[in-house]
Amino acid sequence: MNKRALTEKAKSHLQVLCAEIGERRVGSAGNRRASAYAEQVLKEAGWQTESTELSVIDWKTEGASLTCNEQSFEVFSSEYSLGCAVQGELIAVTTIEQLEQADIKDKILFLYDTIASQQIAPKNFPFWNPEEHQHLISLLEKGKPKALVCATERNSATAGGVYPFPLFEDGDFDIPSVYMKDTEGERLLGCLGQTVVLESKATRIPETAFNLIARNGIESGKRIVITAHIDTKIGTPGAIDNGTGVSIVLLLAELLQGAALNHPVELALFNGEDYYGAPGQVEYLKQNQEQFGNILLNINIDGAGYQEGPSCFSAFELPEEILDALRELIWDSPGIVNGLPWYQGDHSLFLQNGCPAIAVSSQWFIENMECQEVTHTPKDNLNIVNYERVAECALGISELIQKL
Ligand SMILES: [Zn+2]
Repeated sequence: MNKRALTEKAKSHLQVLCAEIGERRVGSAGNRRASAYAEQVLKEAGWQTESTELSVIDWKTEGASLTCNEQSFEVFSSEYSLGCAVQGELIAVTTIEQLEQADIKDKILFLYDTIASQQIAPKNFPFWNPEEHQHLISLLEKGKPKALVCATERNSATAGGVYPFPLFEDGDFDIPSVYMKDTEGERLLGCLGQTVVLESKATRIPETAFNLIARNGIESGKRIVITAHIDTKIGTPGAIDNGTGVSIVLLLAELLQGAALNHPVELALFNGEDYYGAPGQVEYLKQNQEQFGNILLNINIDGAGYQEGPSCFSAFELPEEILDALRELIWDSPGIVNGLPWYQGDHSLFLQNGCPAIAVSSQWFIENMECQEVTHTPKDNLNIVNYERVAECALGISELIQKL
């Protein structure tokens, strides 16, 4: 297939994923529709597919409110939090040290400033979980406040472009919480020591989602595993994160089908990279516990196809032979450059298990990770996609694999 035909195909996959379906949060009907669409494309291209059901929760809110005397404050239900309708004395802490000393039982606890500067890792998140975050969670659980109000500032490094960001985004953490802008939080300081009334109309709903794996039927030799996450955050159509990644995998399904390959290839669409428990990744780890040694290479695609700048392929722990093939590819491809190392993606799962990996993304995103305000917002839509870049990534990965 030539680049023009491939570009048109990329467009039509992305149209389905990001416009017809749109948001694909784990547990939603849109998420399952996206998995079903991908499975159909993979099957039609002749791949053997295996889909694993995951038990997850979907989450909805009808809004939240916070009042004190006659004043009301703009607050939002924290994603995946339980709902609540409570009132109690408002007390505040700004640091862990203060929290260690405070009696927060049955209070409504206001977290702001230092303690609320960075999103807290979900309780059971397996890939990244700093001790100070676990300590914070355990202090809160032991302290038993009625609910939490969190004021957060802009923090692109940990929360993408989301402002304010939910300090907690965790379906395993059962203290109800809401969040607000830091500027709104300053107003709330006037209510310390007074009784506040908090309602959050949020609910957790048990649901299903699917991990999808497709194989090319070659049995012998070490596997090449190509991955992209199919889910989005709540509130975004997830074009660059990661509709383009899914589309590249679907293009590869066609490109690789006719090709002469020396290795088994596995195409995996993970469900949960942008969800608190990473259920699809955890499931894949479980299924492959003893088999990471059979993986020659992981290629993970996340953040590819941005309108501005070239695509970038970042190499991690590559053996000489694969590094040479990658160098050759970059040399031959004007739209693809060497990428800086970055770790906030599913390639980390493979690296942690001793597999070499290549992360495919857009140079602009990697270089602006700390300051861009697109990721996880409605701005991550098809208007910022360069379909040719998407096609080039698929062609590049396909060429690379055929060199191995
Ligand atoms: Zn992503």
